[in-house]
Amino acid sequence: MSIKIIQGDITKLDCDAIVNAANSSLLGGGGVDGAIHAAAGRALLEECRALGGCETGDAKITGAYNLPCRYVIHTVGPVWHGGSHGEKELLTSCYRKSLELAKANNCKSVAFPLISSGVYAYPKKEAFQVAVDTIRDFIAEVEMQVYIVVFDKAALAVAEKLFSDLIETS
Ligand code: ADP
Repeated sequence: MSIKIIQGDITKLDCDAIVNAANSSLLGGGGVDGAIHAAAGRALLEECRALGGCETGDAKITGAYNLPCRYVIHTVGPVWHGGSHGEKELLTSCYRKSLELAKANNCKSVAFPLISSGVYAYPKKEAFQVAVDTIRDFIAEVEMQVYIVVFDKAALAVAEKLFSDLIETS
C-alpha cells in the first residue's frame, strides 16, 4: 500500500472515503467544501447539520450520498497565521484523525485534498510536507491506499518539484 499524488477533482473519485477541507460549522463553504456539497446533494448538509460542528484539527465522518465514494470525512484545517500558532500540529492532527476514522470504518482507499492550502492560506510546500509525513507514518502501520488530490496549478507545480516520485499520471 502506498501514497500517491494525483491531479483532478476529488468529487469524482470512487475510493472508500474522500476527505473534505471543511470549516468548523460543517455547513458547507467555498473551495473543495462547496464542490463536495454540490456533488453530494442536500442530504449531506442535513447529516452535517446534526453533527453540531467540528473543532479545528478534528474530523467527523458522514455518508457520501450522490458522490461515487462511500464516505466523506470532514476535517477542519487551521487558518495560517504565520506558522507559530500551532498550525503544523493542528494540520497533522487533521490527517491523523481522518486516517483513524477511515481505518475505524474499514476504508482501504482514502483521498485527501491539500487541506488548509486554499482559503486558509497554509503555504503549499509546507502543507504538502505535513500531508506526506503524516500519511507515511500512518500507512507504515495500517494497510491503506492514500491519495493526495491536487487541483490547482500551483499545487501541482509544488508536487512536481518536491514529490515527483509520488505523482501518478494516467
Ligand atoms: P481550506 O479552507 O482548507 O484552505 P480550500 O477548499 O480553500 O480549503 O482549499 C484546499 C485545497 O483544495 C486547495 O489547494 C484547492 O485548490 C483544492 N480544491 C478545490 N476544489 C477542489 C476539488 N474539487 N478537488 C480537489 N481539490 C480541490
